[in-house]
Amino acid sequence: MRIGVLAVQGAFAEHITKLNGMGVDCIELRQRTDLEQSFDGLILPGGESTVQGKLLQEQQMLEPLRNRVRQGLPVLGTCAGLILLAQKIVDDETVWLGTLPVCVRRNAYGRQLGSFRTEAEVEGIGTVPMTFIRAPYVESPLVADAQILARVDGRIVAVRYGNQIGAAFHPELDEDDRIHEMFLRLCRQHRTNG
Ligand code: GLN
Repeated sequence: MRIGVLAVQGAFAEHITKLNGMGVDCIELRQRTDLEQSFDGLILPGGESTVQGKLLQEQQMLEPLRNRVRQGLPVLGTCAGLILLAQKIVDDETVWLGTLPVCVRRNAYGRQLGSFRTEAEVEGIGTVPMTFIRAPYVESPLVADAQILARVDGRIVAVRYGNQIGAAFHPELDEDDRIHEMFLRLCRQHRTNG
């Protein structure tokens, strides 16, 4: 199995280190031709969504990635990656991939709580550590079958819709592997189902 990690900006190296540590191969996706290689799942790392989105636009990668995700390619978007996936951003007309039917609020925790660590229950896998860095949260799901995976202080911080997982926090920065395992389970299933 091989995972494509978007590597135009942000915390992609941390995801690769974690996945390699779990025995999974990765390829870095930096330009459109990189998408011609085969990969069984996609990771959109944290960083700066506006910068990443513009680079994806310049590289003409938005449309092929959007198509792959719509066709069922499993994807894990963390922090900025969640923003890239979102169908709507509060007070913003911008839509990048727009495949995940949720509305997100960027930099949602204000100045005081710009970065913090906590832990919370994630549906199906138990309590996991969570590192938030100028994080968004999900203001509202836009469809009934978007599954809420986790909340912190009542706010939605992880969701799943089909093969798409969005997390407002940075699971690649903690030792716990369970969010990545959940994503890899989707990738294995997808691979088996063809
Ligand atoms: N604040 C960033 C954004 O809006 C996300 C931060 C992160 O990925 N750690 O894109």
